[in-house]
Parts: sequence; structure tokens; C-alpha cells
Amino acid sequence: MRAGWEVVIGLEVHTQLATSSKIFSGASTAYGAEPNTQACLVDLGYPGVLPVLNKEVVRMATLFGLAVNATVARRSVFARKNYFYPDLPKGYQISQLELPIVEHGEMMIFDADGNEKRIGITRAHLEEDAGKSIHEGLEDKSGIDLNRAGTPLLEIVSEPDLRSAKEAVAYLRKIHTIVRYLGISDGNMQEGSFRCDANVSVRPAGQKELGTRAELKNLNSFRFIEKAINFEIERQIDLIEDGGKVVQETRLYDSVKDETRSMRSKEEANDYRYFPDPDLLPVEITDEYIEAQRATMPELPDAKQQRFVNDYELKVDDAVILAASRPLADYFEAVVSATDAKAQFAANWVIGDLMGALNRDSKDIEDSHISAVELAGLVNRIHDNSISGKIAKQVFDAMWDGEGSADQVIDAKGLKQITDSSAIEVVVDKVIAANPSQVAEYQAGKGKLIGFFVGKVMQETKGQANPGQVNKILKDKLKA
Ligand code: ADP
Ligand code: MG
Repeated sequence: MRAGWEVVIGLEVHTQLATSSKIFSGASTAYGAEPNTQACLVDLGYPGVLPVLNKEVVRMATLFGLAVNATVARRSVFARKNYFYPDLPKGYQISQLELPIVEHGEMMIFDADGNEKRIGITRAHLEEDAGKSIHEGLEDKSGIDLNRAGTPLLEIVSEPDLRSAKEAVAYLRKIHTIVRYLGISDGNMQEGSFRCDANVSVRPAGQKELGTRAELKNLNSFRFIEKAINFEIERQIDLIEDGGKVVQETRLYDSVKDETRSMRSKEEANDYRYFPDPDLLPVEITDEYIEAQRATMPELPDAKQQRFVNDYELKVDDAVILAASRPLADYFEAVVSATDAKAQFAANWVIGDLMGALNRDSKDIEDSHISAVELAGLVNRIHDNSISGKIAKQVFDAMWDGEGSADQVIDAKGLKQITDSSAIEVVVDKVIAANPSQVAEYQAGKGKLIGFFVGKVMQETKGQANPGQVNKILKDKLKA
């Protein structure tokens, strides 16, 4: 951050809710169908049709509200947001304005110094998505695909509490984790199920009033969000330092040029003339309903992370990594329950080698080549001294390549650790005999040379000798 300036960011996140049908109609929400095969008369806004609320979206919004410690409104109201656009044949979008279903929530993130920081969640409201314009593959024309029209969204609006691009990404990742934990969204960013607009402003450090903000649209990956915000921060500071003024406007991020550019200014902004939708009743829910939903809540990331630290004695950083994804956390716990080794030791293997291999091959934990039970099998062989940690890496790679279980690989390749003292002694004697000058130096007090001898013995045994035993035998023999 440039000295003397403070950055202020608030995010609006559009999460597509994972219902099988639309928010006000029975049309399918499945992704990837032929254009205009999944929009029914309600989605198209034909005269005379009536929307009927999909009760699943109320359940999902309620779960989200509870997860972020918010007030779930006993009564919320749908409103019409009126505007014209080709992908909105109705001429209005059904949303919520004055009485949203979720208000006054909060979430904790870690700031740059690793301290916990509270980010306020102003509101989360239900709304329908619009269709989309298609330009690709159509010369001189644009097409409209209305399959997405009427897809349920939960728009989650944060307070302007974020102070850097990194904090914004941390917040966004956590929202992403929570909606997937709750099973209310698949969070797929490529398919547009998780989208974000970032409101960015700067102000001289210490100033109370907020600066004028720009709203960045078109942010569809965590990496681009960070880059777009950082570009925008620099642009605004440059502008003000050169005597200019930030104007309130909507800007588009261009990921190819890595810059933001103006899309429309506030003067051109729409007056949406919101009013309560006369076709839909207010949504009224009871305390019993809310408590029934609370009873179905899964363990959330913060609680899971805390439990991993308390029950498994994991390092906090590792607990954070493992709890960030529910399938990853489940995998880790399955490894732990199938091994006698310490949980932290199992965690090291999951976070190090397993996640490394998954990243390298761009795979999700669900598609891991090595199951939790198989990884536990490997961890057990290290734990019972059948193989060293170093050899285990070799076994891991073979398992990843489909060469069988840990035991099968160890057998087939003859990798079992040498724990037979007499066999190790033979090698130790050989190494001592071959390096008389080092022996003399060691015996003259250069104790550090022990590492040299251990290395030689390990080399001779292709890493298979038990390192603890090698150490002990070497020291005994070198003393003599
Ligand atoms: P709008 O009605 O134009 O969408 P809102 O008041 O709902 O505006 O705010 C939208 C988002 O912008 C919220 O996340 C809010 O925290 C954020 N925001 C508002 N003012 C500022 C500002 N000056 N700088 C940065 N973010 C802001
Ligand atoms: Mg807004």
C-alpha cells in the first residue's frame, strides 16, 4: 500500500443456489443445455403467468443467515427492479430491496498480520438471474440465451470493512467455503455460479469519510479479483495525486490487459423504480422453521478448524488449510482414523505430498489417485518403521501412478527398511574402512562429520537402512 492512503472495499457476491428448478418456475437449472431449452413462460415473463416461490431457496438463504450469525427475517418481501435489457424480456428482475431475508451478519477473516478481523455482512437477499447475450460464433449478430433467466441467486453484500485486495480475497474465499459447506451452491466460478462485484475507494489515512468508489464488474476468478482491485487502487491514487477526482462509476476488468476501464457512470445509472411484486406474497417464516434448519447445519469451517487444533493437536495453519474444504477435511479425518500415527504426521502427508500431487495434476480431492485408506496404509508403514520418510516419497509416487497399495509397492520394489543390526553393521564397517581420514578427523573432535558417515551408509543401502539405528551403530563404532 502506498504510504498515506487507506483502501476501502465492499463486495457484492452473487451465489447461484443449488436448486434443481428455478426460483419462480419448474424449469430446470442444469448447466450447459442448448440455448433457450430451459426457460418456461414464467421465466420469459409472458402475460398472465404467475411466479411461485421455490421453497428450497428460503431454506438455503436461512442456512446461510445462520452460518454468518445474521438475523433471518421472519418476513421478507420480493420487489421488482425495473430496467430494460435484451436478456430480461420481462422488463424487471424480481429481487428484494427493503426487506431482505438476511441482515446484520458477520464473518471472521485473517488480515495480513495473521490477526482475526470481523467483516460485517450488511445483507443477503434472494433474486432471480437474467439471461445472457451470446456473441461468439455469430457474425454481425448477438443471440440471447434465456436458460439462466430465473435461476436463483443469493446476493451477499458486505460492509465496506475490507482494507486490501488480499483481505477481499480472504473474505471471498471464506464465503465460497461456507456456501459449499452448507451445500447451497456449487461455487463453480467458470460456470458463473459464484460471481463478485468489488466496490473500491481510497482515502487519505486517518480521514473518516469514505472516498468516492468505483464498482468493478466481471470478476470471475480469485486471481483476477486481486489483480483488478490492485490495479484500481493504483489508478485512483494516481488520479487524486495528480489533482483529479475519482468519479462514481462502474468499471470492467480486462484480464488480458490487466486494467479496469469505464463502463458507465453514475449519471447514466438506472433508476430502478423498485416496488413490491404484486404477484408474490411476502415470505413469512416461523421460529420453529428456523430452528429446524439450524438442526440440519453441518459443522462449519471455523468450528472444524478449532476441533482439529483441539482434538488432533494440529498446527493452526494446517487446520486452516484442511478445514477450508469439506471433502479435504473428510479425507484427512479418514486417514487419521485408519492410522496409528499422530494426526499431525498424517496431516503433513495430506498437505504436503497429496495436495502437491493434486495441484500438479489439477485434480480435486474427490479425484485423488490415492484413497484416504491407501494413504493411511503408507503412513502406517512409516510409523512402524518398515520404510523411512524418504523412501515413502518414492512409494507415494508409485501409488499415485497406480502401482498398487503401499505394501504392494514396498514388496515389489524391495524397499523395506533394513532394521537388522548385523546387516547395518556390515555396511558401517565398510564405510569406516573406506574413509580413514574422516575417521581420524571425527575422532579428533569434529563431531559434525557424523552426517557424512550417515550419508554414506544411506547411499550404500539406497536409503533403506533405519536412520536411527545407523546413527547409533556409527557412533558406537567410531568411538572405538
Ligand atoms: P449500491 O446500492 O450502489 O449497490 P450499496 O450501498 O448497496 O450501493 O453498496 C454496495 C457495496 O459497496 C457494499 O458492499 C458496500 O460496502 C460498498 N461500498 C459502499 N460505499 C463504499 C465506498 N465508499 N468504498 C468502498 N466500498 C463501498
Ligand atoms: Mg448493489
